[in-house]
Amino acid sequence: MQQIHTRLAVIGSGPGGYSAAFRAADLGMEVTLIEKHDQLGGVCLNVGCIPSKALLHVAEQFNHLPLLRQWGITSTVTSPDLNAIREHKNTIVKTMSQNIAIMARQRRVNVITGEATFIDDHHLQITQKDKQVRLGFDHVIIAVGSRPNMPDFLPHDARIMDSTAALHLTEIPDRMLVVGGGIIGLELGTVYQALGTQITLIEFTDQLIPAADKDLVNLFQRSNKGRFNIRLNTRLTAVSAHPGGVTTTLLGADDQSDQMDFDALLIAIGRTPNGHRIGAEFAGVFVDQRGFIPVNDQLQTNVPHIYAIGDVTGNPMLAHRASHQAHTAAEVIAGHKTYFTPVAIPSIAYTQPEIAWTGKTEKDLKSAAIPYKVATFPWSALGRSHASQHPAGKTKLLYHPSTGQLLGAGVVGQHAGELIGELTLALEFGANIEDIGLTIHAHPTLHESIGLAAEAGLGTIT
Ligand code: FAD
Repeated sequence: MQQIHTRLAVIGSGPGGYSAAFRAADLGMEVTLIEKHDQLGGVCLNVGCIPSKALLHVAEQFNHLPLLRQWGITSTVTSPDLNAIREHKNTIVKTMSQNIAIMARQRRVNVITGEATFIDDHHLQITQKDKQVRLGFDHVIIAVGSRPNMPDFLPHDARIMDSTAALHLTEIPDRMLVVGGGIIGLELGTVYQALGTQITLIEFTDQLIPAADKDLVNLFQRSNKGRFNIRLNTRLTAVSAHPGGVTTTLLGADDQSDQMDFDALLIAIGRTPNGHRIGAEFAGVFVDQRGFIPVNDQLQTNVPHIYAIGDVTGNPMLAHRASHQAHTAAEVIAGHKTYFTPVAIPSIAYTQPEIAWTGKTEKDLKSAAIPYKVATFPWSALGRSHASQHPAGKTKLLYHPSTGQLLGAGVVGQHAGELIGELTLALEFGANIEDIGLTIHAHPTLHESIGLAAEAGLGTIT
């Protein structure tokens, strides 16, 4: 077996792993990045954030067609060209993955393709196609991510897809059941709906995107009435696949079951962290029952020279959380006094309209018994949203009743995800709504709604 040694080993090349490797190399460290897949970039780049947004961009164009027709802009499109759409998505993914490989080379990061497992707390075994490598390390960062959950009772059938399979876009089924009303289910449901699929979406709780505030989600739901058949408080209890389709049994809140037939199923019921798949026990690293690896605010596991970042460390499972943890871990290993203690981590559903929130939600504030007030600005009064024919939206600020300090914020509407950046910065800077209200926002813009919401709240501080 080949034996090599590295100062820092990074397992996994997702937004966590490659960001850690790059920051460590920039800080002068000798780094080895290990990835089991041929393409770098992890879930986010290959089968997550980027391909889903490429397809959502296509979906948006399709949804614009009826609007364009109003002004005499007609199109000859009768049905989507799946090959062209797939090519568009694959080209973006491939280009970005190649860019990561180039950036790794520029930094002299040693990239090894193979699957890493721990031998002990200073050695990894890397299984490659034709050989095994024993890699000794001074430090290691575990960035192995997560995988989709699939219920055990599902038959193996190509028409029953997880998010990865759905992103391959092999065909556009006539009727699809989306199981799970979280961000991933809604985004992929949006894509297939725009391309012509009739979508039924079930969610077992009483609200879509349970982590977001209900008023934001309700506005999304109202805007999509007629596009999705949404059934809340409903779970999938049985599935049988047969040549004519897939028969499902759905159990509602009233304990009544009914059977519905579909041409495809998309299962989007959350993700399982990969902590149990790396032999962590041989290094003495604690992994909880679900597969998460607990870390402190310097991203150290219970074994101080072994770090973990990204999805494998807990929720929210988001790429920007992974990359920021990555920078902290690399800097700590380089001897800096850096901590990962964000005030706010923004979340965005890139649906139509988008739903975005940051900092505390109303749910968080109520459960922590923190007093708060709400200031909102409806987009029905916003020039830019009318001008671009997307008047459905709302900007909402949550602030402390006596100091006016911003505690959290939510936006639903077109490009809400672009607006949430300003609010996250405001939270990190400890801004109050006076700071935001006095900041001159350009007219007519969508971000003007942030200033206007703050102004609405200004007179209410006691
Ligand atoms: P990952 O990206 O999962 O990367 C882990 C890597 O480790 C993988 O490449 C894997 O092959 C490799 N690996 C695992 N085990 C080993 C091993 N033993 N040896 C070697 N390599 C190994 N997040 C957002 O912030 N915004 C979005 O818009 C968004 N959209 C999403 C859409 C979908 C459909 C999905 C599924 C996810 C989406 N996410 C989004 C979540 C985002 O993809 C993850 O939070 C992010 O990829 C986590 O990064 P990570 O580095 O922790 O792990």
